[in-house]
Amino acid sequence: MKIAILSRNRKLYSTRRLIEACEQRGHEPMVIDALRTYMDVVSSKPEAHFKGEVLPYFDAIIPRIGASITFYGTAVLRQFEVMGSFPLNESVAISRSRDKLRSLQLLSRKGVGLPNTGFANSPDDIQDLLKMVGGAPLVVKLLEGTQGIGVVLAETKKAAESVIEAFMGLKANILVQEYIKEASGADIRCLVIGKKVVAAMKRQAQPGEFRSNLHRGGSAEIIKISPAERATAVKAAKVMGLNVAGVDLLRSARGPLVMEVNSSPGLRGIEEATGKDIASMIIEFIEKTAKPHKTRTKGKG
Ligand code: ADP
Repeated sequence: MKIAILSRNRKLYSTRRLIEACEQRGHEPMVIDALRTYMDVVSSKPEAHFKGEVLPYFDAIIPRIGASITFYGTAVLRQFEVMGSFPLNESVAISRSRDKLRSLQLLSRKGVGLPNTGFANSPDDIQDLLKMVGGAPLVVKLLEGTQGIGVVLAETKKAAESVIEAFMGLKANILVQEYIKEASGADIRCLVIGKKVVAAMKRQAQPGEFRSNLHRGGSAEIIKISPAERATAVKAAKVMGLNVAGVDLLRSARGPLVMEVNSSPGLRGIEEATGKDIASMIIEFIEKTAKPHKTRTKGKG
């Protein structure tokens, strides 16, 4: 099969592993930088161009679209969908997963376990917002944050008010969330492919830190997850419409709670922690699933 990997840099670990897995399994991979792709969107025969050439038809597209280029990256992916290529994750599902508020609303509507969460822009009544999610201690998050930056644990009501006021002063959208103390600074990353969790790792924060992000010095190890955790991760990916997803869970006293569903999960951490060849599993999934003109959400905003 001809497989395009939408990635800005072929040297990135995940991109490199996907290229290797494609080649090992007898496919022809091509790495395409979405930002440098331009498209003829109006003609009866839609085309995508790259470096002065018309791109060939690809049987499948593996989108590795970073958060900062979601808008243009998903537009390029959509063009390939219109041309009939099979997207590993559909453009609509990726856009959906990048919007934290929309994601949590969708998951909540389908009964997926979530931490109590409030969203706000400029609340006139911070006391009421705090009361709504059960009071301090709580976690305040900047909506646009990644890698744990902009995630603050406010241990008291006073601290929570100050942090919220500071973020409001920056005109940022914020999320206020119940603090899951029982998680003890750990979260679980479940890698979902199709309808299965193919690998799971536990990320543990450094002592004295509650954020388990590897970028914040957290450590990762393989973990056995419960049937309830497995079912929650698979359901979360399904609700988001993602074939491949990294689902982050917190272990709470009332069962697994979904923190985030990531549509371009990094492969390094999970392959190193579990010793599994996730890249090949992804290519195998494409071999089994890819058919032309299969995009289900075509035309649905
Ligand atoms: P980012 O998307 O920037 O990584 P997260 O929302 O994943 O931010 O939060 C970073 C880390 O903080 C998580 O991996 C988790 O360990 C911890 N954390 C986040 N929200 C909560 C919460 N509500 N209760 C307990 N720990 C949390």
